[in-house]
Amino acid sequence: MDEERNIDPIFCLRGLQSAKTLACATRGTDGSPRVRYLSALHFELDAVYLLSSRGMPFARQLLADPRLQLLGAVRKGVSVRLTGTAEVVPEDEQVRWRLRIFQECPEYRDLYPPLKHDDSVVFFVRNGYFEYLDLVSSPILRVYVPFGEGKVVPSGYRITDACGRCGSCRSACPENAILPGSPFSIVQEHCLQCGACVEACPRGAVVPV
Ligand code: SF4
Ligand code: SF4
Repeated sequence: MDEERNIDPIFCLRGLQSAKTLACATRGTDGSPRVRYLSALHFELDAVYLLSSRGMPFARQLLADPRLQLLGAVRKGVSVRLTGTAEVVPEDEQVRWRLRIFQECPEYRDLYPPLKHDDSVVFFVRNGYFEYLDLVSSPILRVYVPFGEGKVVPSGYRITDACGRCGSCRSACPENAILPGSPFSIVQEHCLQCGACVEACPRGAVVPV
């Protein structure tokens, strides 16, 4: 992946779709994290569809708290993460999307035999944001991309006006992601979010985003 490539929602969706392993994190009913591998999926250009049995913890967790993250390992050191909100597909469209998923993942037909299809539920994710992360390129590349009507909630660090321009953070940065200026600034696309600059700053000028 090089920076010239257009990292847009479709590119990120294709990355997730091509991932050999795709994990999904939700919150348990007690608020603790829950993660599992997913493969009963279908990708459209504007949404990801997920199938579960209504009785499974996965479905119950999403019905109680629809926030989720999908994380796909595209290849070694390269990942795509989708942070979003799951919605239940309208009742009159459940069969259509369920059959679509069965078409692409026939192994699930055995898990959800025809007479028991009603036990399953299809969710979709249409709004959120992607984080594309390439740790192999040098410097690393991290790109946030809104999905649907979602808004990006970035993480990492920024430098405030308390900066005294001493350059210690720049020397400490393993990715050369800090530019001189007044104040100094972090090139977010290349920031590893390692926090070395926070430790190096004598003025407490580097703070979480
Ligand atoms: S170490 Fe702190 S004070 Fe020095 S340049 Fe970096 S942000 Fe500014
Ligand atoms: S968090 Fe790490 S990679 Fe990012 S600017 Fe600071 S030192 Fe550099």
